Amino acid sequence: MPNSTTYSVIACLAVLGVSAPAHAGSEHGHNPANTISTEHDHADSFRHFAPELPAMRARAAQINTDFGLHVSEIEPGLFFVTDLIYQSAFLVTDEGVVVFDAPPSFGDRLRAAIEMSAPGVPITHFVLSHKHADHNGGGYTFADVEGLKVIGAQAFADSLARNPLRGVLTPTETFEDALSFSVGGVPIELQTANFHANDVDVIIHLPEHQFLMAIDTITPGEAPFMNFGGTADLEGYMASFEMFLSYDFEHFLSGHVSVLGNRQDVETARDYAHDVRDTVYQMWPGFLDRFMGNMELTEFQHGNLAYRITMEQVRDECAAQIIDRWEDTLSVVDLWADSHCETVVMHAIMH
Ligand SMILES: [Zn+2]
Repeated sequence: MPNSTTYSVIACLAVLGVSAPAHAGSEHGHNPANTISTEHDHADSFRHFAPELPAMRARAAQINTDFGLHVSEIEPGLFFVTDLIYQSAFLVTDEGVVVFDAPPSFGDRLRAAIEMSAPGVPITHFVLSHKHADHNGGGYTFADVEGLKVIGAQAFADSLARNPLRGVLTPTETFEDALSFSVGGVPIELQTANFHANDVDVIIHLPEHQFLMAIDTITPGEAPFMNFGGTADLEGYMASFEMFLSYDFEHFLSGHVSVLGNRQDVETARDYAHDVRDTVYQMWPGFLDRFMGNMELTEFQHGNLAYRITMEQVRDECAAQIIDRWEDTLSVVDLWADSHCETVVMHAIMH
């Protein structure tokens, strides 16, 4: 018979819109928790998830070109580009155009956007934020630009030499920790950090444009993507927000969704991520007691099963709290909170 702990797990799972083990187990003989049903009247139906918040939808960029991109000049000479899923930017100066990332989903159209916004101005620089093809696999569309300076961190270049990625340009100029340069008199500052990729991330700062770019970090108006954007470095991720906030900026380009972020979005993302971390760590002293309780539940016959039950209990209680506290502030919290809690649970176990 379920005890009170099991009931609370079932309650949490109900909040998350996923099936409780007891219910699912009777049908399938295993535990498919975390599975969302595409059926309308299923207990785990997708229809149980909250709609996106109106405040976030109101900020969404709109397609404003006939080639299917949103292109807007956010500061003099600085253009923000999005296909509403990925984001990129370019800077037009008297000397040439500087491109910041080229996602494969719109690499060719990015070039069209540059030609439309700066007809006749040569493309001279291409700056790479990190070595993930989904943000730079469109670089090949700039491969024929004569004399193009492709700028990337040394660790990026090393990693690319070991594992070439389709469409990603090889840096022609590299730097170790930081690089400051200017194009047409506009200063550009690059700084390496570790918050997402497993080799290196680069923070791109244009101080005169109040512009900061750090890819795969926040999703303005929304809870972070699954597992905190799949970060390879959770501690670096948690610490990154203060690092970003130490810069002078108003615009924050984070690479995803159609909304261009700002300072407030970075503060909100920090508070959310830290709340998830603190919520799990507050429960952590009771982890072993819970585990022993679940060992008893499984009649001391199945340590792995007891461990998984314990991890799910902590994850699901954390997620229920997080959803309760954040669902009116950020969109899709109910969709991803359990993955965020699970990421912290895994980190707490392994560190
Ligand atoms: Zn990435």
